[in-house]
Amino acid sequence: MERVLIIGSGPAGLTAAIYAARANLQPLVLAGGLYGGQLMLTTDVENYPGFPEGVMGPDLMIKFREQAERFGARIENVDATYVDFSKRPLVVRTADDEYHARTVIVATGASARWLEIPGEEKLRGRGISTCATCDGAFFREKHIVVVGGGDSAMEEALFLTRFGRKVTVIHRRDGLRASKIMAERAFAHPKIDFIWNTVVDEVFGETHMTGLKLRNVHDGSVMQYEADALFIAIGHTPNTEIFRGQLDLDDAGYIVSPDGVSTDIDGVFVAGDVNDLRYKQAVTAAGAGCRAAMDAEKYLEALEFAPKETIAR
Ligand code: NAP
Repeated sequence: MERVLIIGSGPAGLTAAIYAARANLQPLVLAGGLYGGQLMLTTDVENYPGFPEGVMGPDLMIKFREQAERFGARIENVDATYVDFSKRPLVVRTADDEYHARTVIVATGASARWLEIPGEEKLRGRGISTCATCDGAFFREKHIVVVGGGDSAMEEALFLTRFGRKVTVIHRRDGLRASKIMAERAFAHPKIDFIWNTVVDEVFGETHMTGLKLRNVHDGSVMQYEADALFIAIGHTPNTEIFRGQLDLDDAGYIVSPDGVSTDIDGVFVAGDVNDLRYKQAVTAAGAGCRAAMDAEKYLEALEFAPKETIAR
């Protein structure tokens, strides 16, 4: 029987693990096959407090993990595949095991969205990617396209200038959603240009991507556009498939929580991007993980499942 079972291992899940472990609750973290969350797919993190020179996303997540393990968190690199929150204890399954828990903290985060256009699926990994850090180096001296107008798109475009001879940002509106500092960096970069009011309707290529079909959203005009790679940075979808029918989800699939921690099921708490359409920052996710663990501890105390002696905070 687990007292605290945490699903997910980004900043939210691992911060919850640090706090639950320091409360002597020996949490079990089902970290997912690819542990560490979205920061594992990023480069420099410049806005996480405590790192004035910035920190590489994967390095930061390794530190989170080591810190949680130091206090006794058990971390398994497996995916949760099924939950039953109608039962007591709560049930969580992976491909090979079934776990029973008094409390569950859901911190499964969100995943990059795809355009879902013809050619995209076939050419994933053959010119199309959602991760510049992972795949950018394959496109040295190539012409690279980035789709999107948010901070992610600017970050990807700026990173890709290290490799590509030219990076073109294609955005469906005539203005960016990105923060001012990121937009200004992209505008100022000599390798980056922009195509506005335009969407990608199709990707061409057999063994690798060779070009795109672009459509102007104002006049409907269509053109074929030569490019070697397409990086898609159009936001994220919450990872909540296994909670459908178990937890209250909103129309976009985010877990509904009145206070950013509790859910409609007693003993099930939520933390991070899986419930956060608005901030989606590593530091806000970490804060939510802390709150979820403290609330889980309180809940266990009320049920008298918490240890009598906890490590002083
Ligand atoms: P986002 O802010 O939601 O931006 C998504 C962009 O993709 C928008 O410009 C949107 O267009 C466009 N888009 C969405 N669906 C599309 C589609 N089907 N076809 C074409 N374009 C589409 O997402 P994000 O950039 O991933 O950022 C998410 C959060 O993380 C933000 O809070 C951001 O500040 C933060 N973040 C921060 C940093 C940093 O500070 N270094 C880096 C990355 C992310 P519209 O503008 O027309 O809606």
